[in-house]
Amino acid sequence: MSTETMPEITRYNYGASFSSCPENGRDTLILHEGCVPYLSFRAFDGLPGIQAAFSTRLGGVSKGFRSSMDLGFHEALDTTPKEHEELARAASENFRRMGETLGIQPEQMVYSQQTHTVNILTVTGHHKGMGIVKARDFTDVDGLVTGEPGICLVTAFADCNPVLFADRTGKAVGAAHAGWKGTVGGIAGKMADRLNREFGCRREDLIVQIGPGICGRCYEVREDTARYFRDAYPESELPCILKKKDEEHYLLNLFAANYFNCIHAGIPAENIYISDLCTFENPGLLFSHRASHGKRGILCAFIMIRK
Ligand SMILES: [Zn+2]
Repeated sequence: MSTETMPEITRYNYGASFSSCPENGRDTLILHEGCVPYLSFRAFDGLPGIQAAFSTRLGGVSKGFRSSMDLGFHEALDTTPKEHEELARAASENFRRMGETLGIQPEQMVYSQQTHTVNILTVTGHHKGMGIVKARDFTDVDGLVTGEPGICLVTAFADCNPVLFADRTGKAVGAAHAGWKGTVGGIAGKMADRLNREFGCRREDLIVQIGPGICGRCYEVREDTARYFRDAYPESELPCILKKKDEEHYLLNLFAANYFNCIHAGIPAENIYISDLCTFENPGLLFSHRASHGKRGILCAFIMIRK
């Protein structure tokens, strides 16, 4: 049994921020308590064969500021081999625990290799286990799609936005990692295009979950980032995406920007669900890069078509 206690949780209703999104005002994330707590998405409830979840920082074995459900192998970190081995051992055990909770084997999972690109990989049986129980044969992939049942797509977060897709007829699923670079690069729209082209998913059949991630009242950026968004979005959408905070800072709403990316890609507004949890505001439940000044573990999103 876990000795961790469930923290206070702050939920945030985005209804007033961009009112064209009808799913905004509802609780979209469901917290499942237990030895390994996790979140599920109301967006995908009732879609036959679709299973999706998002980890919390609770229920794992990692120590210190990565306590305790750290799902990162931290390959790129500058650590000693011994430290790296310890991090990897803890992550492997955490994946085993999370998998047991969700009824998914780590060998069925495929883990993205995220570098803030808009590159998307079509995942097949060949990739099973890559990034978790064996080495990947791909790099620089921030979006995953598959039409094969029994393969679980895994993507990593600590403030950046997950954008998860499921075709309501069960043809395919997808998961994207959208930080500011991926968002301004339009990765959500590229995911919709890819799902349409590769699996014949109709845009009106795509159900989308955006978040959890850092929200529009917590994510401060400077002019050098803000200008990319001013260039990428029409005037009418910018008030939802960027708010001037003071002389030097803006508040950037990645949820809204990813929402508009989906709208531009032809996904109906009523199919898009926005997170009501912010990573920055829930440091006891979720890892936040900004809230922790980089001292944090990794959260993962999981999505698959069940066999
Ligand atoms: Zn927030």
